[in-house]
Amino acid sequence: MDKFQEATTENETLDPPDWTDMGVLSHRILDDAISYLKDVRDRPVWREMPAEVRSFFSAPLPRSPAPLADVYDDVARNVMPYPMGNIHPRFWSWYMGSSNFTGALGDFLAAIQGSNLGGGNHAAGLMDSQVVNWCKEMVGFPAAASGTLVSGGSMANIIGLTVARNVKAGVDVRERGVGAIPKPLRYYASDQVHSCHRKAMEVLGLGNRALRRIPTDAGLRIDIAALKRAIAEDREAGFKPACVIGTAGTVNTGAVDDLQALATVAAEQDLWFHVDGCIGALIAIAPENRSLVAGIEQGDSIALDPHKWLHAPFEAGCALVRDASAHRNTFAVTPEYLESTPRGLASGEWLHDYGLQTSRGFRALKIWMALKEHGLEKFGRLIDQNIAQARYLTRLIEAERALELMAPTTINIVSFRHRLGDASEEHLKTFNTEIMLRLQEEGIAVLSDTTVGGQHCLRVAIANHRTRRDDLDLLVSEMLRLGREIEAPSMPG
Ligand SMILES: *Cc1c(COP(=O)(O)O)cnc(C)c1O
Repeated sequence: MDKFQEATTENETLDPPDWTDMGVLSHRILDDAISYLKDVRDRPVWREMPAEVRSFFSAPLPRSPAPLADVYDDVARNVMPYPMGNIHPRFWSWYMGSSNFTGALGDFLAAIQGSNLGGGNHAAGLMDSQVVNWCKEMVGFPAAASGTLVSGGSMANIIGLTVARNVKAGVDVRERGVGAIPKPLRYYASDQVHSCHRKAMEVLGLGNRALRRIPTDAGLRIDIAALKRAIAEDREAGFKPACVIGTAGTVNTGAVDDLQALATVAAEQDLWFHVDGCIGALIAIAPENRSLVAGIEQGDSIALDPHKWLHAPFEAGCALVRDASAHRNTFAVTPEYLESTPRGLASGEWLHDYGLQTSRGFRALKIWMALKEHGLEKFGRLIDQNIAQARYLTRLIEAERALELMAPTTINIVSFRHRLGDASEEHLKTFNTEIMLRLQEEGIAVLSDTTVGGQHCLRVAIANHRTRRDDLDLLVSEMLRLGREIEAPSMPG
């Protein structure tokens, strides 16, 4: 009998028919995975998928079985060679970490154990709380604060902004809804604030207009005097100023708001102080640069992102809230089917009382294992290393006539562009976009672009534990080569 038909109907299971065979295949997959990471530097950062690979993803829903070895071959052929590229040493696009092998083992073991982190008395629940406690310690939060691991920074910000709304609303928003809030709430952030805050304001029912974007200074940090004026204006006009969001590392240029000044304004004005530390909160563990985020420990809530500078495999975000009861009061609901018991599995804490998810994955293990293996100090040094690399790239750009720095480099993000005679802004954008695309298409490096102060620029965000200085030397020389190649055809003679 065919081995795929031998299970009888009533005893069917997803377990393999033969664990020994499964072991052999699994070892092969593991060996391939190790080579994949070991050789990452030798592959292009990114490559376009050929049409036949693209069409692989339109295959119909599989109704009958296939041997797992064939399934894996499909993955090895069509999926693994076409990654986003963020594990590559020359990936510096948008903002994300570069993952790590130990974290991948953690994800594997978490899936093998299969625990649900909604709550309960089991090791995964305790480890989840332990990692949250470690995150508090990293940013200087008190042990009595609370927190939760979430999918990423966007969710972590939503958690903080929701607690802020409920605390400042002046009514029981959970019971009565936002329509019952007596004076419309206002939140404040710099005009560089990440787009997830807009979404948060929308889903919180406060609306995008309730988030006032405050102008920034020459360093693209929130203008404190303008913030104070906006708060006074709003009070005058009958709004209730409720929350100020400080950004520790903006996504455009890495600017760090003056967190101590914001903490003072928040205290004077009775505002909730939320810190979006998705990029920069963890600078608090970096010995050379930690003073840049001084004041973060005064936040009422902080969003941080272990899948950025702790390089946890996606996904892992963390929301921290200083006032644990305000946090719990925002989300706790105990339905009759989730009552706790005095002993046994249901005697543990219900971790779903601290966020929006009921079931949650065991995100803590991948973070825990990598932290244990390397120790916190090494993660701190890696953050300093990336910041030093960004400063090195900044010096290369400043020394090169063909390149132009477009914003000050504060942390690990460099905004710059290739010059082009006295070309218009529009022409410069086309030219620099072409350089960026050819860098990708030739598999050399992946950068992204943005607009700062109305001017288009390229962006290198180095949150990458594999980047070396010679990668940045290569970037500059390849940009100059591409600049010449793109420019040449349009130049007469
Ligand atoms: C990345 C980022 C976010 C969003 O975090 P995700 O993990 O992508 O959801 C929010 N704010 C800032 C400043 C970020 O850099």
